[in-house]
Amino acid sequence: MTNQTQSLEEPATTVQPDVDAVVVGAGFTGLYMMHRLRQEGITARGFDAAPDVGGTWYWNRYPGARCDIESMQYSFQFDEDLQQEWRWTERYASQPEILAYMGHVADRYNLRRDFTFDTRIEAATFDEASHTWMVETDGGEKIRTRYFIMGVGCLSAPIRPTFEGEVNYKGEVYQTSLWPKDPVDFTGKRVGIIGTGSSAIQSLPLIAKEAEHVYLYQRTPNFVVPAQNRSLSDEEVALIKSDYKGFRAKAYAGLTAFLFPRHDQSYFDLSPEERRIRLDEQWEIGGLPFLGAFNDILFDEEVNAEVAKYWRSRIDEIVEDPKIADLLTPDEFFGCKRLCAGTNYYETFNRDNVSLIDASNLGIERLTETGLRAEGVDYDLDAIVYATGFDAMTGSVTRIKITGTNGQTIQEKWADGPATYIGLTISGFPNMFNMVSAGSPSVLATMVTCAEQHGDWVADCLVHMRDNGLTLIDARPEAEQSWVDEVNRASQHSLRTRCDSWYVGSNVVGKARVFAPYIGGWPPYVQKCKDVVANGYEGFTLESL
Ligand code: NAP
Repeated sequence: MTNQTQSLEEPATTVQPDVDAVVVGAGFTGLYMMHRLRQEGITARGFDAAPDVGGTWYWNRYPGARCDIESMQYSFQFDEDLQQEWRWTERYASQPEILAYMGHVADRYNLRRDFTFDTRIEAATFDEASHTWMVETDGGEKIRTRYFIMGVGCLSAPIRPTFEGEVNYKGEVYQTSLWPKDPVDFTGKRVGIIGTGSSAIQSLPLIAKEAEHVYLYQRTPNFVVPAQNRSLSDEEVALIKSDYKGFRAKAYAGLTAFLFPRHDQSYFDLSPEERRIRLDEQWEIGGLPFLGAFNDILFDEEVNAEVAKYWRSRIDEIVEDPKIADLLTPDEFFGCKRLCAGTNYYETFNRDNVSLIDASNLGIERLTETGLRAEGVDYDLDAIVYATGFDAMTGSVTRIKITGTNGQTIQEKWADGPATYIGLTISGFPNMFNMVSAGSPSVLATMVTCAEQHGDWVADCLVHMRDNGLTLIDARPEAEQSWVDEVNRASQHSLRTRCDSWYVGSNVVGKARVFAPYIGGWPPYVQKCKDVVANGYEGFTLESL
């Protein structure tokens, strides 16, 4: 660690930036970026709308919130001491534990010092004459910076549908993605949960344990497999820690940058008996790794249908009422939406105090003074929980008024879908870096690993700029177009593009339908980022004032 604070070397110009970089977001990406900038002696200020570090993990504190990537991998690897000293308690970390970890990282590297909290970035405008950005906060502060670095997350712009009659409703209202800090007590209450994504799937079983009655309003069912979460034993932690570097290196070499039992075998390579044994084994492993049973689940429709049949056979073993099991069965490709990892989700529908409400026809028609009306029926509710998701991948960027060259806004630029060069830069928005977002593996890899790879790439780039007296870097339009073509090409092979989901933006009215993350795999992506640098920042225009 270094405490250097020297500024980037500036050529003679009348307009001088206040800082070298502004970093937006104090989640995994922003924290690591700040750490790297400091190591390089690059001055930076960070901002976050929350009162503390954590990013999406600060806000998503609903009951049952938990990560679906194993904790030993959903954590930083840049410092061996850090990864050796932190002890994860469960296979999949709960939100409080992840937040504690992020707080620990912030303390350990003294990162809060450079962040201003409770402050939202509202606008950023590029000044072509001085090669700087003017960044504006909701508190009215203006900061001139050479580089504008976005670490705003893929799943951090919450959406909540508006229903007629909302103002009349007298009960309590909660949103999973903006959950209050103080515990919520549902004891003795009638609770309505809207949504069946991961957030609802994780919170329903816990809310049902407390509440008098829970109504789950389901517009579209989701595939859920058991998370098979458990405590981590000292032995398994010690085993990984005995060669944490080697473990990380193996993960890094894999398609998703995290390790899980994945069989590089087609469904058709196995006999029917072997297939069943394999599926049973992967079911016991649970969660996202279930998709590792065969290598063609997400590519071959027939295989996908067979896996969905297997899934249904397991659900029939759990759900007592076959009509409810029918209702809970999706009519789409298995794993097309992000596969949900649940704990007691299907079991919860066997409880007397839980009702699954099919809201797929008329839907939720309106809120009333005492509850809501759905599918022609009035429900009295003491509390309504919106688990209605996010304007994913791009929403946290486009909610900021960002204006690049020639007065073009990011909303105009991305009207037909996110266009990026290597998922890190946007042509026409010089000196801006948009990290762990559209156009990179982001949500398909381990976000934390992606945050580190992006942080290193950006830090190295800014050092290159400084060392060469450069003041502007912008992706060339043709380089961006060829990356957009590659992102689209890669997604065409996967069944993941063939259903409505937040991956393609279909959960937001009016949003262009584009598969936003790069699905071509982690190693080719990392190689591309390296090649760009090795070829002298190929695809970029570099200038100095
Ligand atoms: P989501 O998957 O987008 O689910 C939103 C739900 O709200 C959907 O079921 C949607 O129904 C429903 N909905 C939206 N508007 C509605 C309306 N007007 N009426 C009725 N239903 C409505 O959101 P999420 O559950 O927050 O999860 C998003 C992502 O965050 C996950 O896929 C995951 O990547 C991440 N996440 C991860 C974890 C974890 O690590 N385990 C936990 C939580 C979240 P339709 O499907 O019909 O649109």
